Amino acid sequence: MLDPGYFRQLGLGEIREKVAAGQRLSLADGERLFACRDIHALGLLAHSVRTRLHGKSAYFVVNRHINYSNVCVNGCRFCAFSRKKGDPLAFELSESEILEKVAAQKNGLTEVHIVGGCHPDLPLSFFEDLLKKIRTIQPKAFLKAFTAVEIAHFAKKESITVGEVMSRLKAAGLDMLPGGGAEVFSGRIREMLCPEKLDGQGWLDVVRQAHELGIRTNATMLYGHLETQRERLEHMAALRELQDRTGGFVCFIPLPFQPANTELSNLSPTTGIEDLKTIALSRLMLDNIAHIKAYWVMLTVKVAQAALYYGADDFDGTVVEEKIGHMAGAQSEQGLTRREIERIIVDAGFEPVERDSLFNSIKENGRGRCS
Ligand code: SF4
Repeated sequence: MLDPGYFRQLGLGEIREKVAAGQRLSLADGERLFACRDIHALGLLAHSVRTRLHGKSAYFVVNRHINYSNVCVNGCRFCAFSRKKGDPLAFELSESEILEKVAAQKNGLTEVHIVGGCHPDLPLSFFEDLLKKIRTIQPKAFLKAFTAVEIAHFAKKESITVGEVMSRLKAAGLDMLPGGGAEVFSGRIREMLCPEKLDGQGWLDVVRQAHELGIRTNATMLYGHLETQRERLEHMAALRELQDRTGGFVCFIPLPFQPANTELSNLSPTTGIEDLKTIALSRLMLDNIAHIKAYWVMLTVKVAQAALYYGADDFDGTVVEEKIGHMAGAQSEQGLTRREIERIIVDAGFEPVERDSLFNSIKENGRGRCS
């Protein structure tokens, strides 16, 4: 129950009315919510929206992450994962090594998540062949691969359009883009932290074209570094605006910045309260994106579990082997089993629903790709 008196006392009476009526919140509303010190009030508002959309369901996926290489032409200051070619910590998996990892999954895998750095040499044909071969090994799994940044990099390298890149990858088996590389769209921040990287408008353009080609995507936001709360809200507003036009976003994934082993290691990591606030704000601002993910790899399992009461409805998945967050000092496990995820969700008072990449229930639709 959203007791009107309680929210009025906090100066959030008007926002409570809007949330209860399902009305869109403004950036100014978002700023007022961020300024509120009562985390329970934010949680109640976000939970009311989450419950309206998903009831007691909390989703998860049986997936496998594969990072094919950390060699990258860019040098984002917040990145602990990438290395230049020849660096002792640089790695590149061969096609057979990747296929071995995919083939080793005998647990009812329904999603393969593939991302890497912007590699200077690997041609687009390498990835086309890879997707085709993975498809034969795991015919029922969704292939969710490549950030918009990688897609733009392939286009530049091959001197073709991003549309051509995505059409070729789609023909090879690509189902979906995972939504990474968005960071925060603010030009001010990108100039400071990742000037070589595809800019915010470029990211939105690639993703818009993906949606127009029938390739659904997720969207991420990296927060907790140098950005302001207003810049987080503007990031969400840009996604909300694109979603109004295309309807192609499946899930929003707020990612707390992990400073260890980066050029920003002097910064403190986000606190649990900051994480829960940002999840709650995401749920409240993104009224047209159905799902908000509590990505346990970055949040830790315990904060992700609590986030189910702060607007999140998805727990991500089994993951199996995570490198990007862990090279930046993530303290979470490398992977979880289906049974562990179910226990975490049940213990929080929710009903676990195993899903595919598009959030179709596996039980209702049979295992794997439903399209
Ligand atoms: S964040 Fe991505 S694009 Fe930037 S350096 Fe790391 S791997 Fe490369």
